[in-house]
Amino acid sequence: MSTAARGTRVLVLNSGSSSVKYQLIDMADEQRLASGVVERIGEPGGAADHTEALRTVAVELGGRGLGLDSPELAAVGHRVVHGGTRFTAPTLITDEVLAGIEELVPLAPLHNPANVTGIRVARELRPDLPQVAVFDTAFHATLPEAAARYAIDTATADRYGIRRYGFHGTSHAYVSRATAALLGRDPADVNVIVLHLGNGASASAVRGGVCVDTSMGLTPLEGLVMGTRSGDLDPAVVFHLQRVGGMGTDEIDRLLNKRSGLLGLCGDNDMREIGRRMAEGDKAAQLAFDVYVHRLRRYVGAFTAVLGRVDAIAFTAGVGENSAAVRGAALFGLDSLGVTMDPVRNAVRGHAARLVSADSSRVAVAVVPTDEELEIARDTYALAAAPQGG
Ligand code: ADP
Repeated sequence: MSTAARGTRVLVLNSGSSSVKYQLIDMADEQRLASGVVERIGEPGGAADHTEALRTVAVELGGRGLGLDSPELAAVGHRVVHGGTRFTAPTLITDEVLAGIEELVPLAPLHNPANVTGIRVARELRPDLPQVAVFDTAFHATLPEAAARYAIDTATADRYGIRRYGFHGTSHAYVSRATAALLGRDPADVNVIVLHLGNGASASAVRGGVCVDTSMGLTPLEGLVMGTRSGDLDPAVVFHLQRVGGMGTDEIDRLLNKRSGLLGLCGDNDMREIGRRMAEGDKAAQLAFDVYVHRLRRYVGAFTAVLGRVDAIAFTAGVGENSAAVRGAALFGLDSLGVTMDPVRNAVRGHAARLVSADSSRVAVAVVPTDEELEIARDTYALAAAPQGG
Protein backbone atom coordinates (compact mmCIF):
# COMPACT_ATOMS: atom_id res chain seq x y z
CA MET A 1 0.00 0.00 0.00
CA SER A 2 1.36 3.41 -0.89
CA THR A 3 0.66 6.24 1.49
CA ALA A 4 1.24 8.81 -1.23
CA ALA A 5 -2.46 8.82 -2.08
CA ARG A 6 -3.44 9.74 1.46
CA GLY A 7 -3.21 13.46 1.21
CA THR A 8 -0.67 16.22 1.38
CA ARG A 9 -1.11 17.66 4.85
CA VAL A 10 1.29 17.13 7.72
CA LEU A 11 0.51 17.87 11.35
CA VAL A 12 3.64 18.87 13.26
CA LEU A 13 3.54 18.37 17.02
CA ASN A 14 6.07 19.78 19.46
CA SER A 15 5.18 18.34 22.86
CA GLY A 16 7.12 20.09 25.60
CA SER A 17 6.96 19.50 29.33
CA SER A 18 4.18 22.05 29.86
CA SER A 19 2.92 22.86 26.35
CA VAL A 20 2.01 21.35 23.01
CA LYS A 21 2.68 23.45 19.93
CA TYR A 22 1.18 22.41 16.63
CA GLN A 23 1.16 23.40 12.99
CA LEU A 24 -0.77 21.97 10.10
CA ILE A 25 1.11 22.40 6.83
CA ASP A 26 -0.01 21.51 3.33
CA MET A 27 3.06 20.10 1.63
CA ALA A 28 1.64 20.70 -1.84
CA ASP A 29 2.57 24.37 -1.46
CA GLU A 30 4.12 24.40 2.04
CA GLN A 31 1.34 26.72 3.25
CA ARG A 32 0.47 26.85 6.94
CA LEU A 33 -3.22 25.99 7.36
CA ALA A 34 -3.32 26.26 11.14
CA SER A 35 -1.06 26.71 14.11
CA GLY A 36 -1.46 27.07 17.83
CA VAL A 37 -0.30 26.14 21.27
CA VAL A 38 -1.91 24.51 24.28
CA GLU A 39 -0.11 25.81 27.34
CA ARG A 40 0.06 25.30 31.10
CA ILE A 41 -0.34 21.54 30.97
CA GLY A 42 -0.77 20.21 34.48
CA GLU A 43 -1.31 23.70 35.91
CA PRO A 44 -4.55 25.23 37.18
CA GLY A 45 -6.56 26.55 34.24
CA GLY A 46 -4.57 24.51 31.72
CA ALA A 47 -5.03 21.06 30.21
CA ALA A 48 -4.82 18.31 32.83
CA ASP A 49 -2.22 16.30 30.92
CA HIS A 50 -0.79 15.70 27.45
CA THR A 51 -3.72 13.49 26.48
CA GLU A 52 -6.15 16.29 27.16
CA ALA A 53 -3.83 18.81 25.47
CA LEU A 54 -3.72 16.76 22.26
CA ARG A 55 -7.48 16.29 22.36
CA THR A 56 -7.75 20.07 22.61
CA VAL A 57 -5.52 20.36 19.53
CA ALA A 58 -7.80 17.89 17.72
CA VAL A 59 -10.90 19.88 18.73
CA GLU A 60 -9.32 23.19 17.66
CA LEU A 61 -8.42 21.75 14.27
CA GLY A 62 -11.80 20.05 13.94
CA GLY A 63 -13.57 23.34 14.60
CA ARG A 64 -11.82 24.76 11.55
CA GLY A 65 -12.74 21.83 9.32
CA LEU A 66 -9.16 20.53 9.55
CA GLY A 67 -9.78 17.64 11.94
CA LEU A 68 -7.45 14.74 12.57
CA ASP A 69 -9.97 12.49 10.79
CA SER A 70 -9.47 14.39 7.54
CA PRO A 71 -8.44 12.21 4.59
CA GLU A 72 -6.16 15.07 3.56
CA LEU A 73 -3.89 14.36 6.51
CA ALA A 74 -0.86 12.39 5.28
CA ALA A 75 1.17 12.05 8.44
CA VAL A 76 2.04 13.41 11.86
CA GLY A 77 5.58 14.67 12.51
CA HIS A 78 6.85 14.78 16.09
CA ARG A 79 9.75 16.83 17.36
CA VAL A 80 11.80 14.58 19.62
CA VAL A 81 14.61 16.19 21.58
CA HIS A 82 17.06 13.33 22.13
CA GLY A 83 17.82 10.61 19.61
CA GLY A 84 21.02 9.41 21.30
CA THR A 85 23.41 7.56 19.00
CA ARG A 86 20.64 5.30 17.73
CA PHE A 87 18.41 7.76 15.87
CA THR A 88 20.48 9.80 13.45
CA ALA A 89 17.75 10.52 10.91
CA PRO A 90 13.99 11.09 10.84
CA THR A 91 12.38 7.77 11.70
CA LEU A 92 8.98 6.23 10.99
CA ILE A 93 7.52 5.43 14.39
CA THR A 94 6.83 1.81 15.32
CA ASP A 95 6.35 0.23 18.76
CA GLU A 96 10.05 -0.58 18.72
CA VAL A 97 11.07 2.97 17.81
CA LEU A 98 8.84 4.36 20.55
CA ALA A 99 10.46 2.00 23.06
CA GLY A 100 13.86 3.20 21.81
CA ILE A 101 12.90 6.84 22.40
CA GLU A 102 11.74 5.92 25.90
CA GLU A 103 15.08 4.26 26.61
CA LEU A 104 16.72 7.63 26.01
CA VAL A 105 14.78 9.32 28.81
CA PRO A 106 17.79 9.23 31.20
CA LEU A 107 19.69 11.38 28.67
CA ALA A 108 16.85 13.91 28.35
CA PRO A 109 14.69 13.62 31.48
CA LEU A 110 13.12 17.04 30.96
CA HIS A 111 12.18 16.54 27.31
CA ASN A 112 11.80 12.99 26.02
CA PRO A 113 8.95 11.93 28.37
CA ALA A 114 6.66 14.64 26.95
CA ASN A 115 7.68 13.69 23.40
CA VAL A 116 6.83 10.04 24.13
CA THR A 117 3.42 10.95 25.54
CA GLY A 118 2.69 13.13 22.52
CA ILE A 119 3.50 10.27 20.17
CA ARG A 120 1.40 7.80 22.17
CA VAL A 121 -1.68 9.97 22.20
CA ALA A 122 -1.40 10.90 18.52
CA ARG A 123 -1.10 7.22 17.62
CA GLU A 124 -4.20 6.45 19.68
CA LEU A 125 -6.13 9.18 17.88
CA ARG A 126 -5.05 8.05 14.40
CA PRO A 127 -3.53 4.54 14.56
CA ASP A 128 -3.68 4.20 10.77
CA LEU A 129 -1.57 7.28 10.05
CA PRO A 130 2.22 7.27 9.53
CA GLN A 131 3.91 9.09 12.39
CA VAL A 132 7.48 10.27 12.14
CA ALA A 133 9.99 11.26 14.82
CA VAL A 134 12.36 14.10 13.89
CA PHE A 135 15.24 14.38 16.34
CA ASP A 136 16.89 17.59 17.58
CA THR A 137 20.16 15.71 17.79
CA ALA A 138 20.14 14.09 14.33
CA PHE A 139 21.86 16.85 12.35
CA HIS A 140 24.82 16.63 14.74
CA ALA A 141 25.30 12.88 14.27
CA THR A 142 28.01 13.73 11.73
CA LEU A 143 30.26 15.34 14.34
CA PRO A 144 33.72 13.83 14.04
CA GLU A 145 34.85 11.92 17.13
CA ALA A 146 37.38 14.67 17.88
CA ALA A 147 34.49 17.10 18.34
CA ALA A 148 31.97 14.70 19.88
CA ARG A 149 34.19 13.18 22.56
CA TYR A 150 34.72 14.65 25.98
CA ALA A 151 38.24 14.07 27.27
CA ILE A 152 37.24 11.74 30.07
CA ASP A 153 37.89 8.05 30.62
CA THR A 154 36.56 6.34 27.49
CA ALA A 155 35.09 3.32 29.25
CA THR A 156 33.16 5.53 31.67
CA ALA A 157 31.95 7.76 28.86
CA ASP A 158 30.76 4.82 26.77
CA ARG A 159 29.09 3.11 29.69
CA TYR A 160 26.92 6.15 30.41
CA GLY A 161 26.48 7.47 26.88
CA ILE A 162 28.48 10.59 27.71
CA ARG A 163 29.40 12.47 24.55
CA ARG A 164 28.42 15.65 22.78
CA TYR A 165 25.09 15.12 20.97
CA GLY A 166 24.09 18.70 20.16
CA PHE A 167 20.54 20.09 19.87
CA HIS A 168 18.47 22.52 17.78
CA GLY A 169 19.60 20.34 14.87
CA THR A 170 16.43 20.89 12.87
CA SER A 171 17.05 24.62 12.99
CA HIS A 172 20.76 24.36 12.20
CA ALA A 173 19.97 22.13 9.22
CA TYR A 174 17.25 24.42 7.90
CA VAL A 175 19.18 27.66 8.42
CA SER A 176 22.47 26.40 6.97
CA ARG A 177 20.64 25.35 3.79
CA ALA A 178 18.60 28.57 3.65
CA THR A 179 21.83 30.56 4.01
CA ALA A 180 23.34 28.79 1.01
CA ALA A 181 20.13 29.52 -0.91
CA LEU A 182 20.36 33.19 0.05
CA LEU A 183 23.89 33.26 -1.36
CA GLY A 184 22.65 31.50 -4.49
CA ARG A 185 25.04 28.62 -3.87
CA ASP A 186 24.90 24.86 -3.45
CA PRO A 187 24.90 23.94 0.29
CA ALA A 188 27.62 21.39 -0.52
CA ASP A 189 29.98 24.24 -1.43
CA VAL A 190 29.28 26.52 1.53
CA ASN A 191 30.76 26.64 5.04
CA VAL A 192 28.44 28.29 7.55
CA ILE A 193 28.51 29.18 11.23
CA VAL A 194 24.90 29.11 12.42
CA LEU A 195 24.06 31.06 15.58
CA HIS A 196 20.65 29.95 16.87
CA LEU A 197 19.91 32.53 19.57
CA GLY A 198 16.50 31.96 21.13
CA ASN A 199 15.70 31.39 24.76
CA GLY A 200 17.92 28.36 24.34
CA ALA A 201 20.96 29.17 22.23
CA SER A 202 23.49 27.15 20.28
CA ALA A 203 26.13 27.58 17.60
CA SER A 204 27.13 25.09 14.94
CA ALA A 205 29.86 24.79 12.34
CA VAL A 206 28.53 23.37 9.08
CA ARG A 207 30.97 22.37 6.34
CA GLY A 208 29.36 21.77 2.97
CA GLY A 209 26.01 20.92 4.56
CA VAL A 210 27.56 18.59 7.14
CA CYS A 211 27.67 19.58 10.80
CA VAL A 212 31.23 19.31 12.17
CA ASP A 213 30.92 21.04 15.53
CA THR A 214 28.26 22.40 17.83
CA SER A 215 28.15 24.19 21.17
CA MET A 216 25.58 22.08 23.03
CA GLY A 217 26.72 18.78 24.44
CA LEU A 218 25.34 15.83 26.38
CA THR A 219 22.43 18.12 27.22
CA PRO A 220 21.34 21.57 26.03
CA LEU A 221 23.19 23.13 29.00
CA GLU A 222 26.62 23.47 27.38
CA GLY A 223 27.88 26.30 25.22
CA LEU A 224 26.48 29.79 24.78
CA VAL A 225 24.97 31.95 27.50
CA MET A 226 21.18 31.47 27.22
CA GLY A 227 18.03 33.00 28.67
CA THR A 228 18.16 30.93 31.86
CA ARG A 229 21.04 28.46 31.24
CA SER A 230 24.66 29.11 32.15
CA GLY A 231 26.24 27.49 29.12
CA ASP A 232 29.93 26.59 29.52
CA LEU A 233 31.43 26.55 32.97
CA ASP A 234 34.23 24.79 34.79
CA PRO A 235 32.72 21.44 35.87
CA ALA A 236 34.36 22.00 39.24
CA VAL A 237 31.76 24.71 39.87
CA VAL A 238 29.36 21.84 40.49
CA PHE A 239 31.69 20.19 43.05
CA HIS A 240 32.18 23.54 44.73
CA LEU A 241 28.44 24.12 45.02
CA GLN A 242 28.09 20.65 46.53
CA ARG A 243 31.02 20.77 48.93
CA VAL A 244 31.04 24.40 49.94
CA GLY A 245 27.47 25.42 49.15
CA GLY A 246 25.89 22.22 50.46
CA MET A 247 23.60 22.06 47.44
CA GLY A 248 22.05 18.86 46.11
CA THR A 249 22.13 17.61 42.53
CA ASP A 250 18.57 18.63 41.65
CA GLU A 251 19.10 22.06 43.16
CA ILE A 252 22.24 22.62 41.10
CA ASP A 253 20.45 21.31 38.01
CA ARG A 254 17.69 23.89 38.53
CA LEU A 255 20.21 26.65 39.26
CA LEU A 256 22.17 26.05 36.06
CA ASN A 257 19.18 25.37 33.79
CA LYS A 258 16.50 27.71 35.13
CA ARG A 259 18.13 30.48 37.16
CA SER A 260 21.36 31.20 35.31
CA GLY A 261 22.26 32.78 31.97
CA LEU A 262 20.85 36.25 31.34
CA LEU A 263 18.28 35.76 34.09
CA GLY A 264 20.93 34.85 36.65
CA LEU A 265 23.15 37.75 35.67
CA CYS A 266 20.55 40.52 35.68
CA GLY A 267 17.10 39.19 36.62
CA ASP A 268 15.71 39.33 33.07
CA ASN A 269 15.96 36.69 30.37
CA ASP A 270 14.31 38.68 27.59
CA MET A 271 16.83 40.52 25.42
CA ARG A 272 14.25 43.26 24.70
CA GLU A 273 13.98 44.11 28.39
CA ILE A 274 17.76 43.95 28.77
CA GLY A 275 18.09 46.42 25.89
CA ARG A 276 15.64 48.81 27.57
CA ARG A 277 17.50 48.59 30.87
CA MET A 278 20.86 49.14 29.19
CA ALA A 279 19.51 52.30 27.56
CA GLU A 280 18.74 53.56 31.07
CA GLY A 281 22.28 52.85 32.17
CA ASP A 282 21.48 49.68 34.16
CA LYS A 283 24.83 48.07 35.06
CA ALA A 284 23.58 44.52 35.70
CA ALA A 285 21.78 44.45 32.35
CA GLN A 286 24.93 45.74 30.63
CA LEU A 287 27.03 43.03 32.30
CA ALA A 288 24.57 40.33 31.23
CA PHE A 289 24.73 41.59 27.64
CA ASP A 290 28.53 41.76 27.75
CA VAL A 291 28.91 38.20 29.09
CA TYR A 292 26.43 36.95 26.47
CA VAL A 293 28.26 38.66 23.63
CA HIS A 294 31.73 37.69 24.86
CA ARG A 295 30.77 33.98 24.80
CA LEU A 296 29.24 34.36 21.35
CA ARG A 297 32.45 35.91 20.00
CA ARG A 298 34.50 33.06 21.45
CA TYR A 299 32.39 30.54 19.57
CA VAL A 300 32.56 32.53 16.35
CA GLY A 301 36.34 32.53 16.66
CA ALA A 302 36.53 28.86 17.61
CA PHE A 303 34.26 27.71 14.79
CA THR A 304 36.13 29.90 12.31
CA ALA A 305 39.24 27.91 13.22
CA VAL A 306 37.34 24.61 13.07
CA LEU A 307 36.04 25.37 9.56
CA GLY A 308 39.21 27.00 8.24
CA ARG A 309 37.22 28.82 5.60
CA VAL A 310 33.96 30.51 6.53
CA ASP A 311 31.60 31.65 3.79
CA ALA A 312 28.75 32.84 5.97
CA ILE A 313 27.66 33.51 9.52
CA ALA A 314 23.89 33.17 9.98
CA PHE A 315 21.90 34.58 12.89
CA THR A 316 18.55 32.99 13.68
CA ALA A 317 15.78 32.57 16.35
CA GLY A 318 14.28 35.29 18.59
CA VAL A 319 17.47 37.15 19.53
CA GLY A 320 19.41 36.38 16.35
CA GLU A 321 16.60 37.52 14.06
CA ASN A 322 15.64 40.61 16.05
CA SER A 323 18.56 42.02 18.00
CA ALA A 324 20.76 44.22 15.83
CA ALA A 325 22.64 45.11 19.02
CA VAL A 326 23.65 41.50 19.70
CA ARG A 327 24.61 40.89 16.05
CA GLY A 328 26.60 44.08 15.86
CA ALA A 329 28.44 43.52 19.14
CA ALA A 330 29.13 39.84 18.42
CA LEU A 331 30.89 40.59 15.15
CA PHE A 332 32.29 44.05 15.88
CA GLY A 333 35.90 44.58 14.81
CA LEU A 334 36.38 41.18 13.19
CA ASP A 335 37.61 42.57 9.87
CA SER A 336 40.81 40.56 10.29
CA LEU A 337 38.62 37.42 10.10
CA GLY A 338 37.03 38.77 6.92
CA VAL A 339 33.85 39.85 8.70
CA THR A 340 32.64 43.40 8.01
CA MET A 341 29.14 44.34 9.07
CA ASP A 342 27.02 46.99 7.36
CA PRO A 343 25.53 48.91 10.32
CA VAL A 344 22.66 50.29 8.24
CA ARG A 345 21.64 46.89 6.84
CA ASN A 346 22.01 45.39 10.32
CA ALA A 347 19.66 47.96 11.82
CA VAL A 348 16.85 47.39 9.30
CA ARG A 349 14.12 45.16 10.71
CA GLY A 350 12.57 42.53 8.51
CA HIS A 351 11.04 39.09 8.29
CA ALA A 352 12.83 37.73 5.24
CA ALA A 353 16.28 36.18 5.02
CA ARG A 354 18.73 38.99 4.32
CA LEU A 355 22.39 40.00 4.31
CA VAL A 356 23.64 42.42 6.96
CA SER A 357 27.32 42.43 5.97
CA ALA A 358 29.07 45.00 3.81
CA ASP A 359 29.54 44.16 0.13
CA SER A 360 33.28 44.16 0.83
CA SER A 361 32.96 41.49 3.55
CA ARG A 362 34.68 38.22 2.63
CA VAL A 363 32.34 36.40 5.02
CA ALA A 364 28.64 37.00 4.34
CA VAL A 365 26.66 37.77 7.49
CA ALA A 366 23.00 36.85 7.21
CA VAL A 367 19.82 37.00 9.23
CA VAL A 368 17.87 33.86 8.36
CA PRO A 369 14.53 33.20 10.08
CA THR A 370 14.38 29.61 11.22
CA ASP A 371 11.38 27.38 10.56
CA GLU A 372 11.72 24.19 12.54
CA GLU A 373 8.11 23.16 11.93
CA LEU A 374 8.49 23.33 8.16
CA GLU A 375 11.72 21.34 8.36
CA ILE A 376 9.96 18.69 10.49
CA ALA A 377 7.03 18.64 8.06
CA ARG A 378 9.38 18.17 5.08
CA ASP A 379 11.24 15.33 6.80
CA THR A 380 7.95 13.74 7.84
CA TYR A 381 6.33 14.00 4.42
CA ALA A 382 9.43 12.65 2.69
CA LEU A 383 9.33 9.53 4.86
CA ALA A 384 5.56 9.07 5.03
CA ALA A 385 4.96 9.56 1.36
CA ALA A 386 7.80 7.25 0.35
CA PRO A 387 6.77 3.72 -0.62
CA GLN A 388 6.82 1.56 2.46
CA GLY A 389 8.46 -1.86 2.31
CA GLY A 390 6.39 -5.03 2.71
P1 ADP B 1 12.50 29.75 21.96
O1 ADP B 1 13.90 29.34 22.20
O2 ADP B 1 11.66 29.70 23.19
O3 ADP B 1 11.86 29.15 20.74
P2 ADP B 1 12.64 32.24 20.47
O4 ADP B 1 13.50 31.78 19.38
O5 ADP B 1 11.24 32.63 20.14
O6 ADP B 1 12.61 31.29 21.73
O7 ADP B 1 13.36 33.47 21.17
C1 ADP B 1 12.80 34.08 22.30
C2 ADP B 1 13.69 35.21 22.75
O8 ADP B 1 13.94 36.09 21.66
C3 ADP B 1 13.08 36.09 23.81
O9 ADP B 1 13.32 35.58 25.11
C4 ADP B 1 13.78 37.41 23.60
O10 ADP B 1 14.95 37.44 24.41
C5 ADP B 1 14.22 37.37 22.17
N1 ADP B 1 13.54 38.38 21.34
C6 ADP B 1 12.35 38.30 20.74
N2 ADP B 1 12.05 39.44 20.08
C7 ADP B 1 13.11 40.26 20.26
C8 ADP B 1 13.43 41.59 19.84
N3 ADP B 1 12.60 42.30 19.09
N4 ADP B 1 14.62 42.09 20.23
C9 ADP B 1 15.47 41.38 21.00
N5 ADP B 1 15.22 40.15 21.42
C10 ADP B 1 14.05 39.59 21.07
